[in-house]
Amino acid sequence: MTDTEVGKRVYKLAEKLFPLFRHLMGDEVRESLQILANYIFDGTNVEMRIEEVPSGTNVFDWTIPDEWIVHDAYIETEEGKRIIDIKDNNLYIVSYSAPIDQWVSKERLLSHIYVQEEQPDVIPYVTSYYQRRSGFCMKKSMRDSLPDIRYHMVINSEFKHGSLTFGEVYLRGLSKKEILFSTYICHPSMANDNCSGMALQAELIRYASSICNRRYSYRFVFVPETIGSITYINRHLDVLKENVIAGFNLSCIGDDGVISIIHTRTGNTLADRVTSHLCKTLDWSCEEYPYMDRGSDERQYSSPRVNLPVVNISRSIFGHFPEYHTSADNMEYITPDGFARSFDFIKKIVTILENNRYYQVTVFCEPQLGKRGLYPTLGQKGNATERDLIYQLVGFADGSMDLIEIGEKIGCAADKLVDAAEVLLGVGLLVSIDEKEGQL
Ligand code: ZN
Repeated sequence: MTDTEVGKRVYKLAEKLFPLFRHLMGDEVRESLQILANYIFDGTNVEMRIEEVPSGTNVFDWTIPDEWIVHDAYIETEEGKRIIDIKDNNLYIVSYSAPIDQWVSKERLLSHIYVQEEQPDVIPYVTSYYQRRSGFCMKKSMRDSLPDIRYHMVINSEFKHGSLTFGEVYLRGLSKKEILFSTYICHPSMANDNCSGMALQAELIRYASSICNRRYSYRFVFVPETIGSITYINRHLDVLKENVIAGFNLSCIGDDGVISIIHTRTGNTLADRVTSHLCKTLDWSCEEYPYMDRGSDERQYSSPRVNLPVVNISRSIFGHFPEYHTSADNMEYITPDGFARSFDFIKKIVTILENNRYYQVTVFCEPQLGKRGLYPTLGQKGNATERDLIYQLVGFADGSMDLIEIGEKIGCAADKLVDAAEVLLGVGLLVSIDEKEGQL
């Protein structure tokens, strides 16, 4: 299947996830996980493990909140005309709004209304998880044209003891050392943030499960942002600390913007190195950001006492695109091509990590490549070819540099060196000394 076809089917999966009224916890999160679990199982027979952690559980410095359930929310006029109704758009209500049922003046109503002042024609996405309020969101253009009459504000919501839900897929490889992927599942009806992460990560599970003789194990985590990743880390810190060699948080990853990376605090972990390397060597536009610009679950994974090597991968980065956290982040904002490129980028990461070894050439001086059919016997100028890569690889394989570093030296993405390394290993001109370097 080409990456273009993959892009189309990931887009379709995102389309299924888009309408659901997800928030931190609750049935819509569970339903989203079920859609993802079915998609993964269909292609692979791989099952998603679901875990529930009760409200009130302390996780490090935080406490898991109650579930928020909304039966109805609208604003109506005395004639019974509903000017907004969450049945029409999930974003019309401030997430975690407390119940309210009041007839109020326009002035009072306005104190409960949130708009995006600089973008008159979008509905903003507003949350109030940790302070109780009752609020509605609407387009600025609608708010500014509200007549001076009385309004009926109704939010029929409740908070009940429930549980925080997360999903996990673990694929065992030859080594217990693992590569972690994480994305979040708590946003209602926004496409890039974050139906895109959920859908692409499901596809990546299909891909990783198809790799023969996986060198590494793979862990894929679907959690509500912040409180979910904190909960997941709280429950699994020891195993993560022991095994994760590189991790990637996926956020806003389905649009056509440039690839964006947010690095870890140190900026020099394997996850930093492989993403930076691709940014430098690919003929694609990429942007790299320091840890100061963190904004998604890399905040938890890379926090000082957790200290896992997890970078964030996005296309247009959260907070930087005008559609972010508004109704304009819809299915038109993400594209099958956007997914295809993101998938290709991450596939390259996986290919490099699976093959990133320290190689050493086995002969003194240059090997005679020609007699092994690995060098043109007819000397002639030409384009860079597989044979050039073979020539460069034997020239750099001194046992002290991994494939990423050699790629940097010769200005070539390391995934392109993988075939050359295979050929040289096959004819005995290279040995892999990664065991000695403690990579496995
Ligand atoms: Zn968000």
